[in-house]
Amino acid sequence: MEVPLLDLKRRYDLIKGEIDKAIENVLNSQHFILGEEVRQLESEISDYCNTEYAIAVASGTDALLLSLRNLGVGIGDFVITTPFTFFSTAGAIHNVGATPIFVDIKPDTFNIDPEKIKELLEGKTFHIARLRVNLSKVKAIIPIHLYGQMADMDSIVEIAKEYNLNVIEDACQAIGAEYKDKKAGSIGALGCFSFFPTKNLGAYGDGGIITTAREELAVELKKMRIHGSEKDYHHLSVGYNSRLDTLQAAILLAQLPYLDDWNKKRKENAALYSDILKDIDEIDCPYAAGECTHIFHQYTIRVKNNKREELMNFLSEKGIGSKIYYPLPLHLQECFISLGYKKGDLPLSEEAADEVLSLPIFPELTEEEIEYVCDSIKTFFGNKIANS
Ligand SMILES: *Cc1c(COP(=O)(O)O)cnc(C)c1O
Repeated sequence: MEVPLLDLKRRYDLIKGEIDKAIENVLNSQHFILGEEVRQLESEISDYCNTEYAIAVASGTDALLLSLRNLGVGIGDFVITTPFTFFSTAGAIHNVGATPIFVDIKPDTFNIDPEKIKELLEGKTFHIARLRVNLSKVKAIIPIHLYGQMADMDSIVEIAKEYNLNVIEDACQAIGAEYKDKKAGSIGALGCFSFFPTKNLGAYGDGGIITTAREELAVELKKMRIHGSEKDYHHLSVGYNSRLDTLQAAILLAQLPYLDDWNKKRKENAALYSDILKDIDEIDCPYAAGECTHIFHQYTIRVKNNKREELMNFLSEKGIGSKIYYPLPLHLQECFISLGYKKGDLPLSEEAADEVLSLPIFPELTEEEIEYVCDSIKTFFGNKIANS
């Protein structure tokens, strides 16, 4: 049996009729840039996320970049985030001229630890002593809702209020996730989503969207994505070329009605995995905090005792796909060496990077496939016990 980490073709086969029709409609309209489907997608996503506005852009990375610009974050500023995320979050901070401040995660959810943000802002951490962080220049916090589970937003919002900081949610992995009945992207000043093909709601190319409740931010973002112009060829500010193609919007609109079902299926798959794997001592199954609806963009286990690489190879021999998200935390990336972090600074992120392994979790998986993956993992650890 072969169980790929992700098989997008299965989904396409199921909804081919609707997708092909959506594409054909755009081809017939020949309205490829900011067409009617883009407006419709913005309206449906803002409804879905319970926000007033949604502004479609070219990617999740651009969503983060434009959001930072939108809130006036720029050269000389600092932005708090975690090093245990996709590179994009920190890349966007760097690319507006600001500096990321990395603080550690909570080991159970893999999300940013509000206590550590507080310690930083109180001037108690190594950042101040060693990294030339200027606390008066900290402008924003970007929590990442990693693997589909939202960060501890009540605490983060409270700290942000106390220190007068903006919150930008990196919800790229969390469309449809909830925290105490609030949807991802509806809590911060701005919420950033990616429609990269592998995300829970994926386009057939790059795409992204920004959600907000604030009209003035939405109005600015709409200009910013078309070179800062409101009226053609008249520019009040310098923006970007960052639009979502009409074709991608049409493809996303065709899939949006299925999103909740797909997310539910992911949760059921996760429950099945955890039920079978929970008794294996050498792995930890994902933890879902009570106040959160986890949408399992990834089902990520921890593999203890340095067995991860061996397990990965074993699974690969069995035809099973698995992947490490993410093997090197951002504070230790080559490109950020000049920031001055060193190994050991953020131990929980470093430990997570050494232990995590994501297993196939996509909605179209069959029960037999999940059982095969679990049996293979059990065999691996069973053999280990027998051999030792
Ligand atoms: C995918 C992702 C992004 C970037 O999205 P792109 O659309 O690929 O630019 C940013 N942050 C996180 C956490 C992501 O998973």
